[in-house]
Amino acid sequence: MELSLLTPQQCDLLSSEIQTAGRIVVCCHQSPDGDAVGSCLAWADYLRHQGKEPSVIVPDQYPDFLRWMPNTEKVVRYDKNKDAADALIAAAELIFFLDLGELSRTGAMAESLSRAEGHRIVIDHHLDPTMEGVSLMLSFPELSSTSEIVFRVVYQLGGFSTLGTHFAAPLYCGMMTDTGGFTYNSNRPEIYMIVSLLLTKGIDKDKIYRNVYNNYRESRLRLIGYVLYCKLKYFPELNASYFALTREDMRHFHFIKGDAEGLVNMPLQIKGMRLSISLREDTEKPDLVHISLRSVDDFPCNAMAAEFFNGGGHLNASGGRLHCSIDEAQQVVRRAMEAYKSKLK
Ligand code: 5GP
Ligand code: MN
Repeated sequence: MELSLLTPQQCDLLSSEIQTAGRIVVCCHQSPDGDAVGSCLAWADYLRHQGKEPSVIVPDQYPDFLRWMPNTEKVVRYDKNKDAADALIAAAELIFFLDLGELSRTGAMAESLSRAEGHRIVIDHHLDPTMEGVSLMLSFPELSSTSEIVFRVVYQLGGFSTLGTHFAAPLYCGMMTDTGGFTYNSNRPEIYMIVSLLLTKGIDKDKIYRNVYNNYRESRLRLIGYVLYCKLKYFPELNASYFALTREDMRHFHFIKGDAEGLVNMPLQIKGMRLSISLREDTEKPDLVHISLRSVDDFPCNAMAAEFFNGGGHLNASGGRLHCSIDEAQQVVRRAMEAYKSKLK
């Protein structure tokens, strides 16, 4: 089975960029998920083994269930340390963008990054990357996760043998979370070859699963129960559903960031279900509604997200946002489902 991804030219360029760079920044998208944080930490660990001292900078908070990962204490949060992070970005000779293909997805960091003079290298699996001025664009939309790409690149560069759990654990976590625990986007056999290789480093994959998925506060579990029991709107004739989470719901269940994570996948457990949509009022900005879409098989979430929700993403997992009330947003969802009726049935 072939794990190599890069052309010899890409390999040479990547190696020489790493070798010649003094200061290096590794960053990812805002609201970082397991793949974003995991791939950044694993890539930074690899760079450290190459004698570098990279700074990992994330735009804002990442979920508590990722905090067990080794070296998270070294991660710089842009929203909390803007001046220090701006200085690191300005001084960087090389900036790695992981798990994003668009500068705007770095949120508040985008302005500082756009001014940075360091060489840019993108390592990503999102569709249609738009990042400009890059030295190297390592874009593999067909792969499960950026973590998988990082593994394959490191493996191809010959770096894997000297790495340990600090590399393997976050990388496994990234692959696991971007495939919903290896339940979607996860049919390619290479994934399991990589998992096997990661296990040789002594990671406890069962514990990583528990750290991520069995790590709820009571109020979060009750929020899920409430949403499924009281709020889920199910349209059996469309094989689709949505639910809308209001600020009041969130207050009631002591909502913290990340509590809704994964909730949108649950309605897909209903037999025959093809599309699940969640709407969530922003906790601060009035009239901002966050939308998440999940589907199975060939239903194109990304097309629907682009057409109706100012967003995009992957075929089976996309997101977007609407600037309106939650009630108006629900009307848009109904219109979107109606418009895609033929693809849902
Ligand atoms: P989530 O529902 O977790 O917010 O997003 C699901 C997927 O859609 C993620 O992979 C995310 O990167 C992608 N996504 C969310 N919002 C956007 C957007 O505005 N544009 C694009 N291209 N992708 C998005
Ligand atoms: Mn990802």
